[in-house]
Amino acid sequence: MAGRWSRDGAVQDQIDASIEDAVKQARSQLPKGAGLSHCEECDVEIPQARRDAVPSARLCVTCQELVNETQKTSGGINRRGSKDSQLR
Ligand SMILES: [Zn+2]
Repeated sequence: MAGRWSRDGAVQDQIDASIEDAVKQARSQLPKGAGLSHCEECDVEIPQARRDAVPSARLCVTCQELVNETQKTSGGINRRGSKDSQLR
């Protein structure tokens, strides 16, 4: 049934949209270009050496690598899903 398909899709779109909104809102509250002392994703302290090397770093090395991987493989819906479940 076509109606059932589009309803499921709409729910998923809504979930995706609210995650994106939350991320955008969180990011917009941070000064652009400023680094953080603790990882934006997992709240681990970002080592001073990393902050010296990357003054705008807002993620620990682990999370930054996850982001890099996601960007590299773009279209990694499964990856994004598993990353979200790690956060819970
Ligand atoms: Zn992290």
